[in-house]
Amino acid sequence: MRHLPGVLIVEDEPAIAELISVNLKHSGFRPVWAIDSSTAQAELDAVLPDVILLDWMLPGESGLVLAKRWRAHPRTKSVPIIMLTARGDESDRVAGLDAGADDYIAKPFSTKELLARIRAVLRRRAPEQDLSVVSAGDLTLDPSTYRVTFRGHLLKLGPTEFKLLHYLITHAERVHSRSQLLDKVWGDHVFIEERTVDVHMKRLREALGLEAGQMVETVRGAGYRLTTQVAVAKPA
Ligand code: CA
Repeated sequence: MRHLPGVLIVEDEPAIAELISVNLKHSGFRPVWAIDSSTAQAELDAVLPDVILLDWMLPGESGLVLAKRWRAHPRTKSVPIIMLTARGDESDRVAGLDAGADDYIAKPFSTKELLARIRAVLRRRAPEQDLSVVSAGDLTLDPSTYRVTFRGHLLKLGPTEFKLLHYLITHAERVHSRSQLLDKVWGDHVFIEERTVDVHMKRLREALGLEAGQMVETVRGAGYRLTTQVAVAKPA
């Protein structure tokens, strides 16, 4: 039997959950509905879904709190999270992404758009065809063990930052525009803003730390580049 991608819907409004659920079933997904955070946690403990649709405004613990917790937990950290919310402010959007959400969709949304975004995160998460170890300078990434090290020290990266770094290392020294990165790393950028790239680049630099973070260069007006030739400030 074909594996139907599992989608955990964490949503306290039954009408919305039902609408999403019906559409997902029609499109070949296997939806599971959790009405609150404890039900969602129990579902996650039982079976890991392929993607989580997480409402921001939930009674009790908010979606933001849940996203942070799931991202921090080894068992759930790689499951893509799409936040559903009525909040449309940029600051909220950034907060959602910073909490570890892979994408963000504001209510009211079209089910067509929602499905496109689910497919996009699933494509993004699809295992890389090439699982060979890659490196740039002292930075090494191993897709098969999901590990990144700098001079032998293990670094902690989120799933999007991992994929971003994989792309940058395999295409080092070249400058990539935000739209190119969305296309190559996110896979389907129709609904994703270029600002998202900046958010994840910031997170990538933070995860890499002070020294390795310098390898990720912002090229003004052009985009980003990973380089092993880190510019050294000239003495005055
Ligand atoms: Ca709600």
